[in-house]
Amino acid sequence: MNRVEFLNLALENKPFENELQKAAKRVIDSGRFIGGEEVHLLENDLCEKFYAKHAVGVASGLDALTIGLRAAIITGHLKEGDKVMVPANTYIASFLAITNAGLIPVPVDPDETTYNLTGDIVELNMSSGIKAIMPVHLYGRAAWDEKMARLAKEHNLLVIEDAAQSIGARAKSKGLFNSYYTGALGHIGALSFYPTKNIGALGDAGAIITSITEIAEAAKALGNYGSKKRYDNLYIGYNSRLDPLQAAFIRVKLKHIDQLNADRFANVVAYNNTINNPLIIKPILDPVLTDNVWHQYVIRCEERDRLRKFLADNGVETDIHYPTPPHKQPCYRNQFANHHLPVTEKLANEVISLPVAPATINVKTSSDVGRLINQFK
Ligand SMILES: *Cc1c(COP(=O)(O)O)cnc(C)c1O
Repeated sequence: MNRVEFLNLALENKPFENELQKAAKRVIDSGRFIGGEEVHLLENDLCEKFYAKHAVGVASGLDALTIGLRAAIITGHLKEGDKVMVPANTYIASFLAITNAGLIPVPVDPDETTYNLTGDIVELNMSSGIKAIMPVHLYGRAAWDEKMARLAKEHNLLVIEDAAQSIGARAKSKGLFNSYYTGALGHIGALSFYPTKNIGALGDAGAIITSITEIAEAAKALGNYGSKKRYDNLYIGYNSRLDPLQAAFIRVKLKHIDQLNADRFANVVAYNNTINNPLIIKPILDPVLTDNVWHQYVIRCEERDRLRKFLADNGVETDIHYPTPPHKQPCYRNQFANHHLPVTEKLANEVISLPVAPATINVKTSSDVGRLINQFK
């Protein structure tokens, strides 16, 4: 077998080369390098795609989360010091947004089969201090069910979704504003267009999705120095605007999102059909591409590090998402010293991500990698 890369971003962008060059030329010729038509058009495309009222482009996924939470505070939906329930097995950005907005993360263990929050888990961890929940649609799988929606309404919880990994994924049950798309299920959704995401820009970019007009307006102002009108600063804001160049690139790829996600799914099916090693736990596979857009294809193995070395020795690159959960990171270790999150800690030791991106690996190679994994003893 030839060497298999984990993710080759040049290859991933190659199919769009001509369209991306045209998009860049459009922006260069426009002379408009902040805001303007391209950003506006992307925000419209996102509203249409997500069945949401508003989309606000920002500089990154982390900023989308932070500014989304700050906008919730400014509009009175939350107040500083409120507690936000968050799955502990997430990327650090989920936690950073909560603390940077002056809120308190309450890390909880995820479901051990979906690796996500569920309504049952929210219920189990509800306490009077919880004012918001942050479902993270980890690895591309929608973290949403009827019970979560019901609990959010009953307890008046603000729902901010970390949809950085799940663009195009739909939940099996409706969101609070009648959309089925992750990012538009709760009150606020954060998207990331970081280059490795399912829709990757050619640099940093993100967006906030919301159907609450006052939150959209506050978020837009926050990203623009806290001002709605020039030299009139309402809030202590940020410079976090989505570049028109990135917006133009994202619009090119957004048109192809369903096909790109379907191509990922083909690799996933090849893996799941091939891998039958009793030492490996495979992800749950739904029969159709609906609730999961497979940002990562993650298997588990108790001897993960030995498996990783076996694959590397055979030319297959892998990655770990994530080796150290946020509550164990140096920056948070003291704050969460007495937290015991056994599911999260076990997952961190067992998970291994296989190459799955549609232009980096194809169905045949995925099957070859699957057969190689079956030889691991
Ligand atoms: C990538 C990612 C983010 C942050 O997005 P950036 O655009 O890199 O800032 C947040 N949460 C999760 C789960 C992510 O995977």
